[in-house]
Amino acid sequence: MPGWTRSRVALPENQGFDRCRLDSGRPGLRVVVFGGTHGDETEGVLAANRLANAELTLLSGILEVVPIVHEAAYYNDTRTSPLDGGNLARAFPGDPEDRPTGRLAHALHTRVLAGADLLIDLHTSGQTYDIPFLAGYIDDGRDKKGLGKRAARVFGADFVWRHADRAPGRTLSDMDAAIYTEAPLPGPTDAAFVDKYYDGVLRVLAELGLIDRSAAPKPAPRPAQRIVSGGDVDKDLQPATTTGLFIPTVRHSEKVARGQLLGRVIDIAGKVLEELRSPHDGWVVVLKRRPHVKPGDQLVSVAVADNRT
Ligand SMILES: [Zn+2]
Repeated sequence: MPGWTRSRVALPENQGFDRCRLDSGRPGLRVVVFGGTHGDETEGVLAANRLANAELTLLSGILEVVPIVHEAAYYNDTRTSPLDGGNLARAFPGDPEDRPTGRLAHALHTRVLAGADLLIDLHTSGQTYDIPFLAGYIDDGRDKKGLGKRAARVFGADFVWRHADRAPGRTLSDMDAAIYTEAPLPGPTDAAFVDKYYDGVLRVLAELGLIDRSAAPKPAPRPAQRIVSGGDVDKDLQPATTTGLFIPTVRHSEKVARGQLLGRVIDIAGKVLEELRSPHDGWVVVLKRRPHVKPGDQLVSVAVADNRT
């Protein structure tokens, strides 16, 4: 089996991406791995690039890796594009006549994602939110083979988050089967999560028969907590109704009870303007990190246990 081939998809305005491809020469699934959909999330880039240089013996199918999906944002160390302010994870499926971010989404959609069996999109939580180590997938009936569920469950994250709905504009939005990952503690690059992401992708590849199980790490030592709820950080969180400073009273991953205080919005005199309480028993899965809030800002989300097998 020949090794990796690397090609450049070049787009106007110096945009584009490197596409790394390992073809087993045998029938099987085509799995795509993305790093750097958001430019300030480095662990996924490092894990994806490690994968694209790994000596893997592929038993079936095709593995494709784009280590830095959004180069303009990555080399600018920003979540969004310095060219047009666009958030690539809100720009899919894109449009060739659009601004640079939309054009990039269109190229990724048509030239890499179209026809792929599974996407693994490696995010970390970025600067705005704290999020547990999780693998999320969409469960709206389109993933007939259940590849997203299987992939999310074997990845080795602390939480597996099932979403009944499909948020618009994401890399996943037009995929029948896809997972995304998140990890907490945005800040300096966390080498431990680079390892966890790399190991997680190998577990998925073994689960789906692309590599031998002996080539993948053992399952994670403790099984993931399965959770379910809407996961659209643009609209599914509890919003602020006042302007002030948000003071959380819980941490990400924390188990909380219905009615438990999750945080307060205060003014600069310390007066409590509003309290946010958990609507149900569950786990804190998204928590705003930045203190300043205004009405409508998404602050916190509590997901409930997913009891579906
Ligand atoms: Zn992200």
